[in-house]
Amino acid sequence: MTALLTITNLKKHFPIRKGFFGRQVGAVRALDGVNLTIEAGETLGLVGESGCGKSTLGRVVLRLLPATEGQVHFEDTNVLTADNKTLKKLRRDLQIVFQNPYASLDPRMNVFDIVAEPLLVHRKLSKQDLQARVFELLDLVGLNKDMAYRYPHQFSGGQRQRIGIARALALHPRLIVADEPVSALDVSVQAQILNLLLDLKKEFKLTYLFIAHNLDVIRYISDRIAVMYLGKLVELGKSEEVYKRPLHPYTKALISAAPVPDPNFDRSKRIVLQGDLPSPANPPPGCTFHTRCPMAEERCKVEEPPLREIQPGRFSACHFAEKLL
Ligand code: SF4
Repeated sequence: MTALLTITNLKKHFPIRKGFFGRQVGAVRALDGVNLTIEAGETLGLVGESGCGKSTLGRVVLRLLPATEGQVHFEDTNVLTADNKTLKKLRRDLQIVFQNPYASLDPRMNVFDIVAEPLLVHRKLSKQDLQARVFELLDLVGLNKDMAYRYPHQFSGGQRQRIGIARALALHPRLIVADEPVSALDVSVQAQILNLLLDLKKEFKLTYLFIAHNLDVIRYISDRIAVMYLGKLVELGKSEEVYKRPLHPYTKALISAAPVPDPNFDRSKRIVLQGDLPSPANPPPGCTFHTRCPMAEERCKVEEPPLREIQPGRFSACHFAEKLL
């Protein structure tokens, strides 16, 4: 397999300013040194609690937000330093599906114009070819061409997300960042959208960076899982292996917190995390998870554990990961 996207020491710090002159008094460390490779054709699921930095990662990778430090390479091109001409080319290869299909579509544009917009910017198509391509895209995502002249408010949440996916597919992208694409949808519709994304991946050999807070959703769609905590990756590995035997106490707690549809399930075995996610403006020293970790020892308060390979392809940022094998 070849790396399609390589993220190296990526940091995004949002300055905290105070006073009349806007003096910087601190920074929110949304991303704090992320290293990650996404192989061509794989779905990398990025999971973590709200506020852990996962959506920021998706936006910085696509240069929708500027990075503070680090590098993002799409094949050999550095996305973060690309000039306007190269960036325009990259925009065709890299697309995003947003979390909220209610807010991400312009309510004043009809579906035809929404899906046609990237084609008008990036391709010179005749009127007939443009119409044919828009209808083809709507068909691909399971929408009827008769719906093309309706407005977003006339659609259900699932249908709006299909419109967002059609728009993302318009330019034949190679990598799609799907940022919580099903979390705003009813459970019954979630599976339809996930299956649509899986079908499209197969048909167009797509690569996904799939961001979600729901581990079951991530497990269903991902080849590998990356777990994020306070702007850093704490675990990485093949989806089934991570789910069966997590090598970080945080992943273990996330899995244990997932609802189990079994009335006989012994809920006393659940790991309940104490407290909330600490503020990324003032992360704890040492292992940032030590304030909530049931396995924490004195060493964890002072020594930051690096993300290291515990088994081939299995990475964990815990001093005591071997105890979980
Ligand atoms: Fe818990 Fe210590 Fe491992 Fe951090 S390094 S996850 S605090 S045991």
